[in-house]
Formats: sequence, C-alpha cells, structure tokens
Amino acid sequence: MNIAAPKGTKDILPDEMSRWHAVENLFASVCERYGYKEMRTPTFEQTELFARGVGGSTDIVRKEMYTFEDKAGRSMTLRPEGTAGIARAYIENGMASLPSPVKLYYDMSFFRYEKMQKGRYREFWQLGCEIIGSPSAYADAEVIAILDTFFTELGLAERQLELGSIGCPECRPDFLHALRAHFEPNLDKMCPDCNERFKINPLRILDCKVESCQPFIANAPSQLDYLCADCEEHFDKAKRALEALDISYNINRSMVRGLDYYTRTVFEYVSTHVGTQGSICGGGRYDGLVEILGGKATPAVGFAMGIERLLLEVEAQGIELPAAAPVDLFIISFPDTAVSAMALAQKLIRSGLSVQTDVMERSMKAQMKQADRSKAEYLVVYGAEELAAKQFVIKRLSDGAEETVSADDLTDYLLKARK
Ligand code: ATP
Ligand code: MG
Repeated sequence: MNIAAPKGTKDILPDEMSRWHAVENLFASVCERYGYKEMRTPTFEQTELFARGVGGSTDIVRKEMYTFEDKAGRSMTLRPEGTAGIARAYIENGMASLPSPVKLYYDMSFFRYEKMQKGRYREFWQLGCEIIGSPSAYADAEVIAILDTFFTELGLAERQLELGSIGCPECRPDFLHALRAHFEPNLDKMCPDCNERFKINPLRILDCKVESCQPFIANAPSQLDYLCADCEEHFDKAKRALEALDISYNINRSMVRGLDYYTRTVFEYVSTHVGTQGSICGGGRYDGLVEILGGKATPAVGFAMGIERLLLEVEAQGIELPAAAPVDLFIISFPDTAVSAMALAQKLIRSGLSVQTDVMERSMKAQMKQADRSKAEYLVVYGAEELAAKQFVIKRLSDGAEETVSADDLTDYLLKARK
C-alpha cells in the first residue's frame, strides 16, 4: 500500500524552500526593524482556548477545527490560527508586566478542516504580528505600515488595502438589531448556514460565500453607519495616520472578519492582479480577547498573512525572489584521496564556503556528472598528485578557465571569487 500525504496537506520540496525563506526572512527583517520580536506557541492547545478565543459563531470553531481527545481524555485542538495562542501565552507568561506595548510576530503553521482549493489547505502557514497593550489607532496604523513596507520591499505592487470598522460592544447591538431586521424577511431564500448564523451571530452572514445569499448581503446595513462617537474617532484617527504614511486604502462598508473577538478596525489586503482573486492577509483590533481568556482587559491589534497565498501572488505578479545560495566548489576524489577531500571540504565549509564532495565512492565519470548537476562555480580534481604537491588546478565551470592554487590559498581564492 502506498501512503500519501493527508488530503489538504503538501510537502514543501527543497526546490521551493528558497522562495519560502525569501519571504520569511524579509518578513522577519521588516518586523525586527519595527521593534517586534518573534515568538512561537504550541501546535495544539486545549480546545477551550479556541472555543472561547476564536468564538463559537465562527466557521473555524463550528466546522474547521481538528479536535481530538488525548490519552488522558482531554479535548485538544490543532491551532487553527495564531492570535488566541499568543494571547494565552501573554497572560500565562506574565507578559502584561512588560513595558507596553508588547510587539510580537510569528511564522507558524495552522490547521483547518476545509475544502481543498487553490491556495486553501488543511495545513497552511501564516506570518503574523500582534501589538498588545495599545488602545491607540496609531497601533492599528503601525501594523498596517509593517505590511505596506513588507509588500513594497517584496515588490508586490498589485495590492489593495480594504479598511473598515466593526464597532465595539457599545455600538454593535444597534447594528445587530438593524442586521436582523434586514435579513429576517429573506431568511427563507438564504442558505441553511445563514439561517443558523442569524440565530447565533447575524454578523457572520456578511461573510457568507454562497452565491444566492449575495444579493441580500450586498444591500445590508453597514456598521459604519452605526459607529458610536468613540469608534468613529478611532476610525478617523487610523485613517489620518495611514494618510500621513502615504498608505492608500479603500473603505469597505461590509467587511467582517472570520473571528468573533474583533472590535473597531478591521482590514484585509487583497490582490488586484487579474486572475488571482482573493485575500492575502487579514487583521484587526481585538480589544476583548485577553479579558475573555482570563487576563486583565488589554487592547490589541494584529494581522495574519497566508504564506501559500502570498507565494501564489509573488508568482502571478512575476516577482523574482533570490535563488538558493550557489555552490562554490565541487571536489572530485579517488579511493586514495576521498578522505583527504572530505577533510579539505570540511575546512573550506568552516570558512563559510559551500563545498560538495563525493560520499558514494563513485567513478570519476559519475562524479563529473554530479559536479555538473550541482551547478558549482569551481571544480577541483583531487588525485594522489595533488595530495603530494599540496596544490590544485581549479577550474571555473562557466568558461573552463584554469588556475593553479596552493592548498593554503584555496580558501581565500574562493572567498574572493564570490565578490
Ligand atoms: P477565507 O475567507 O479565505 O477563508 P479567512 O478569513 O478564514 O480567509 P484568516 O483566518 O483571516 O482567513 O487568515 C488570514 C490569512 O490566512 C488569509 O488571508 C489567507 O491568506 C490565509 N489562509 C486562511 N485560511 C487558509 C487555508 N485554509 N489555506 C491557506 N491559507 C489560508
Ligand atoms: Mg476561512
């Protein structure tokens, strides 16, 4: 029986890793420059964390979680998103006593039981940021500024920032009331999920993707018309900060986000490239979350960006990412020099060079082929003569040019050749 990778998962093969590293390293570099520090949380948590922290009315909790009982009968869930785990860790590790705001970023994989589609997997990766402890709209603007810098440095030009506000516990009840009044007469024409959502949280209906529900969603009331004075001011301040940072946005009157705990600012980056529709990244403010999880009321804002979706965009928009580091040297050896060749490779590698040598005890002809495939810059044939003379003929594979170099000078020769 052949065992295949589970449905909805994929292998990330060596050839693809340089693309992954390019976006992951750029993201880390941008976050560090804004003063954010990386953290990681466990791959699985108590189910209760997500039930409370993501929210019972969300698709994630209702349909998408990988939940299992461990051997002691406790209910555990593979993390479907990052914010709940980070908020839990923030409380549990006493991070509230650190100077505010606490600025964090992460690069982790997540698990959701979803229908497989292009850019939609059951295990996928996200790059994300959280800034915990600031109630100010400037914190909202800062996390968006991080994304703007990241996309600019990556070269992802065809993007649009969609911006909205979903109010706060003060003004949301009026909006929910208006939503209920709007949807109620049409419930019989809407999907069963929306009928369910109507009962638990009508806000969720705005996120429905079923075609026949769209006409009713399109002319639904907008939270933006129901914001209280404080939420209105917060939203204005965020918009003014973005304008000062030269970050353009599109006000989206119907945006809701996938998690229950969002308050006030919500945003998404969508691709404007023809043919690759969809959201690359989503985020928002979640002032209620830390308290819901048992901490002191603590305002926070953050975002998460799917790496697979980002890489699809990178490809669609024709962005060249740096290739894998080149191989500096391939050493061909013989049975009587193989170990010396390995020792030489060891020395060169420890000086920072990338060097390959034969560990299959193959013929010279086979090693030549391997050297070719390795795309090394230089080649050295290490025979008994070279061993005795302590010098090598080093051959540049691009044009066949040869030079004689002593064993002592080899490291410097190769390091210089790199520049
Ligand atoms: P969608 O509406 O596409 O289901 P979402 O609202 O569930 O997205 P978030 O929970 O906000 O998405 O996650 C943030 C980002 O993570 C998304 O914008 C997307 O890039 C990525 N993402 C979410 N779910 C998946 C998945 N199943 N596979 C790959 N990437 C995903
Ligand atoms: Mg989803």
